[in-house]
Amino acid sequence: MVLTVEHYDVVVIGGGPGGYATALYGASAGLNIAMVERGKLGGTCLNVGCIPAKELLETAAAYRHASEAADFGIQTGVPTIDWGTSLVRKDTIVTSLVSGLGSLLKGRKVTVLDGHARLHAGKRVTVSGGASGDLEVTGDAVVLAPGSVPRTLPGFDVDGTVVMTSDEFLSIATLPERAAIVGGGVIGCEFTSLLADLGTRVTILEALPKILPGLDKDLTKVIEKSFKGRGIEIRTDVKVEGHSPHEHGTTVQAGGEGLDVDVVVVSVGRQPNTGDLGLEGTAVVISDRGFIEVDAGCRTGEPGVWAVGDAIATPALAHIGFIEGVNAIRDILGEDPAPVDYDKVPWAVYCRPEAAFTGLSEEAAKEAGFEVVTQKSRFNHNGRAMIVNQPEGMVKVIAEKGPNGRAGRILGVHMVGPWVTEQLGQGYLAVNWEATVDDMAFLIQPHPTMTEVLGEAMISLTGRPLHG
Ligand code: FAD
Repeated sequence: MVLTVEHYDVVVIGGGPGGYATALYGASAGLNIAMVERGKLGGTCLNVGCIPAKELLETAAAYRHASEAADFGIQTGVPTIDWGTSLVRKDTIVTSLVSGLGSLLKGRKVTVLDGHARLHAGKRVTVSGGASGDLEVTGDAVVLAPGSVPRTLPGFDVDGTVVMTSDEFLSIATLPERAAIVGGGVIGCEFTSLLADLGTRVTILEALPKILPGLDKDLTKVIEKSFKGRGIEIRTDVKVEGHSPHEHGTTVQAGGEGLDVDVVVVSVGRQPNTGDLGLEGTAVVISDRGFIEVDAGCRTGEPGVWAVGDAIATPALAHIGFIEGVNAIRDILGEDPAPVDYDKVPWAVYCRPEAAFTGLSEEAAKEAGFEVVTQKSRFNHNGRAMIVNQPEGMVKVIAEKGPNGRAGRILGVHMVGPWVTEQLGQGYLAVNWEATVDDMAFLIQPHPTMTEVLGEAMISLTGRPLHG
């Protein structure tokens, strides 16, 4: 039975990055917002995604630094791993961010409702099954941000011990000796890298011809070389057929061969969490693949209802959820935001070496019909990269060939190497402001920094390299 009905300017369903960005930005603009979350504030990203994954990768980095300390004249002995302490640190950071988010929402006077939300005709949202009890809220606008859950594979029932998805992996009780990572995408490569750095023998099983689709082929090769050098086996073009658990783990059948491992981490992407959103009597459409259908402005078929984040068929990244939430609010306010250009969004992969890219790879640019000029500049001559002992990797700039045959508009910036996830910003601006090589080449890069490699790539494209 419905007990109360309250009205808001905007009702948001889901408290992950898409939902909470909508709520926070809307509240900043003076709107009265209710946000319904049935699980934990922060959604996948804060609880079982970006934050815990990067925290555990930092554990791997700390172990590596300790192992390499002797190169700097620091004698630490052979480092050992106390995985339990690492998990506690990860949980502490997650808890602190989740509670910080709660305080931020409270400070902005967002009404946070705990329960499962369903949308009905007339922008009515019922909430049930949680600490807020059964109630109904209505909004002048509604934003759907129910996010996604890990995809699984037939024949791989998740038990959290031998077969796991990212949800279970991020709290794995002990480090396995041998692991199969099914899927060589962003998450698969991050898990591979962290496990291998902590001593696990890892095999990646990838159905496509290469790992990390989207990243320029030359740069994927750098990562593959680094992975192989660390004993990681990469099997591409391979179909995973099933597995047979036994006393010491399981045998994964892939490409007609058996692979004995202690754990299998299934990281084959995510599926939209749109199964139980109500929607009867509304014009919101769910596609065959489970995504909420939207136009370029994230508007659903139902007037006054938007959808953002992983539940729509746009790149499944927290920062995409953020900007879609911001844009939805701006649209609600009548500010006519420019739609996101999804071909030019920033991507960041936190494996070792890191990868970061925006815009077209060389292959994609050629497929799109561009004539291109490219430049690869490497980190192995860069002072800062040598100082931090991470000289592998390169920056590749893909520029459109101008009528004079010279490099013109920048179409893509793809990077692999130390801290490139922190360095992509200039490339992002260049691609999104449609800067030319000449616009970028004479900007000053501070010395000594790793961004000098991007500067070198740009000046080299003018035909006059400086250091390279
Ligand atoms: P979610 O974060 O999934 O949040 C949706 C929320 O809605 C959930 O809390 C859910 O409980 C709630 N909900 C769903 N239905 C209802 C309902 N009917 N009623 C009430 N509540 C509901 N992205 C990056 O940008 N950078 C990274 O480094 C990165 N690393 C990742 C690492 C891993 C291991 C994983 C799994 C993901 C990673 N991502 C990363 C992706 C990122 O986590 C997601 O893109 C992001 O969380 C999506 O935000 P969202 O708000 O759309 O959905």
